[in-house]
Amino acid sequence: MNRTSPPPPQHRRLGRARPDHTRPEARFTGIPVSAGVAIGPVFRASEPTPQITRHKIQAADCAAEGARLDAAIAQSRKQLTKLRHRLSVLPEESQAELAPLIEAYIRMLSSSRLIRAVRQRIEETLLSAESAVVAEAEAIAAAILAQAEPGMPAEDRAGLARRAEEVREIGRRLVRNLTRAPYRSFAGLPEGAVLVSESLRPSDAALLDPSRLAGVATEEGGAEGHTSVMLRALGVPSVLGAAGLAHAIRPGDMVVIDGSAGIVVLNPAPETLAAARRAVTAFARERQRFGRLRRLPAETLDGETVELQANLELPLELPLIAQSGAVGIGLLRTEFLFMNRETVPDEDTQTETYRVIVEAMGGDPVAIRVLDWGGEKDIEALSSAGIVPDIADANPALGLRGIRLLLRHVELLETQLSAILRSATAGPVRVMLPMVTTVAEVRAARDVYERVARRLRRRGERIPEKLPPLGIMIETPGAALSADALALESDFFAIGTNDLTAYTLAVDRGETDVAELYDPLHPAVLRLVQFATEAALRMRMPVSVCGEMAANPRLTPLLLGLGLRSFSMAASGVPRVKQAVRSVEIDACARFARHVMEQSDPARIEELVAGFRPTAGH
Ligand code: PEP
Ligand code: MG
Repeated sequence: MNRTSPPPPQHRRLGRARPDHTRPEARFTGIPVSAGVAIGPVFRASEPTPQITRHKIQAADCAAEGARLDAAIAQSRKQLTKLRHRLSVLPEESQAELAPLIEAYIRMLSSSRLIRAVRQRIEETLLSAESAVVAEAEAIAAAILAQAEPGMPAEDRAGLARRAEEVREIGRRLVRNLTRAPYRSFAGLPEGAVLVSESLRPSDAALLDPSRLAGVATEEGGAEGHTSVMLRALGVPSVLGAAGLAHAIRPGDMVVIDGSAGIVVLNPAPETLAAARRAVTAFARERQRFGRLRRLPAETLDGETVELQANLELPLELPLIAQSGAVGIGLLRTEFLFMNRETVPDEDTQTETYRVIVEAMGGDPVAIRVLDWGGEKDIEALSSAGIVPDIADANPALGLRGIRLLLRHVELLETQLSAILRSATAGPVRVMLPMVTTVAEVRAARDVYERVARRLRRRGERIPEKLPPLGIMIETPGAALSADALALESDFFAIGTNDLTAYTLAVDRGETDVAELYDPLHPAVLRLVQFATEAALRMRMPVSVCGEMAANPRLTPLLLGLGLRSFSMAASGVPRVKQAVRSVEIDACARFARHVMEQSDPARIEELVAGFRPTAGH
């Protein structure tokens, strides 16, 4: 593998902002998503008003525009009501501060002056709903500010400024729900800041520059949603689902986030700050220690070799992968290529991107997964081309996603497979199909694969003589339970425990409200993992785990005990898992897994996992 020089080690630099001791320290609890401690000034990523050109409509479209506005109001009210509901987990004083603000926002969405005037503008001046919202919110804010009179006390002035900002804020929310514009406003993010927002989409996370960012904290999001996966990949300490946080911050606030414990502290007291600084140093030391593991083999005490590979979400992770000691890429998620752009990337663009990645791995294998649109992975280039249903109109998790979409719009699959095959001259690649549920899908995809290869050969393109292996993700209960049949059609399995857990337990991966129910240690999930693994092993077919479970060193003995020998995970997880591999014996793991698989209570399994000691003779 090409050992390009890595970026500076995770840089959790101390922000220059000073805590404001006039405001009391406030603690928020969320979901720990990406390990590490960050200290810095907050950067509130409120969504900017998108550049909306004053867009005119036809008189006949007024009713449709009114209906769009109604939908955006309903959506905004739903978001705020949910937020209000979640405030109940906060201490009383924080609730007292935030609840009136949320109430004011909700009131503004009823038949307020703002909403009435926006409707009027749409009808009378034939403006699009978003143009009308922007114009009206600005006009009202300006009118409020104009009430300031010379000699007015500073606090009254501040009150006017606050009210004007509230109107603008509700306008931004409406525009965001009308346009579904991502944040895309990270350019002004000061170096070393902690990004705080209500929510962050995967496509927003893809725009973050981890070398400038100390940490991330949001009010929405779940532990295994794609945003979390992305933040872990970037190695940025992050806490999601911290209720009330985004509305509690003020410009200039300082914040500490502990991405391992899921704690966010606003305006930390001196002793909190001192403890956080010690934690930053300890974390850096631990990374250094892990650095030494890089060159050691991933081998159990009794000499069993285990394959540890990296998942890649964004090309900027390549140096981190080199640094981690991962041997190849076990899951290259290609969604990044389709995000934050208006058109679908063409074959040459894709070929070039894959080639750069394959070359960077210097001969280590790369498993390229074809596009997995769906679930929370909204991709504008596809929705605006009419290729996928509008994410708001569908149940995307159960709809036309993954391989289903690619087989319906086969030109997307053909282009991607052509690009992958052309990049395969740069090093060993494998092709992976997402969200498979039937044998017919694998057969159909293989037909396309072979057809594309024939076409490339006719075109005179150089591709490998023997086609790279074509494998599938096992990430639906349907696929896991059909694993024996699917194994006859596939060259390898990659078990995607993130979706497998979500679909088995009917729990949305990215939803804060049900985050506690998301449990990969539920016996139903473990039985599916076991069933699929055994089906592959019977066929002597490669099988790996590439969901987030693979990155959890506490689960390594269990997964080894189930017969798995290949894991792919965020690069940052590789050293810890390697350490876990190097401290166990396979026999003990197998005994341990047998014991775990006899259990029916997830809490008992959790207890057993927590109590596993490599040398305890399980
Ligand atoms: C999974 O579902 O476990 C997986 C690895 O795929 P993704 O997280 O991209 O959905
Ligand atoms: Mg998945």
